[in-house]
Amino acid sequence: MNQGATEADVTLSAECTVAEFGPESADLHAYCRQTKDAPLIHGGRILLVRRCRCACHQGK
Ligand SMILES: [Zn+2]
Ligand SMILES: [Zn+2]
Repeated sequence: MNQGATEADVTLSAECTVAEFGPESADLHAYCRQTKDAPLIHGGRILLVRRCRCACHQGK
């Protein structure tokens, strides 16, 4: 499995970032919708929103 390597560039959604704080906020993983890369129009520019890398979206 994915062992070690806590990468600095891991991208988590706001929901999963908060959920990682502890068991009391773990529910927030369920609110994360950022499960795939998606374009986002922002201020007339198109940004690519990276999918959330949280472990909660991996492995089925
Ligand atoms: Zn998560
Ligand atoms: Zn997530």
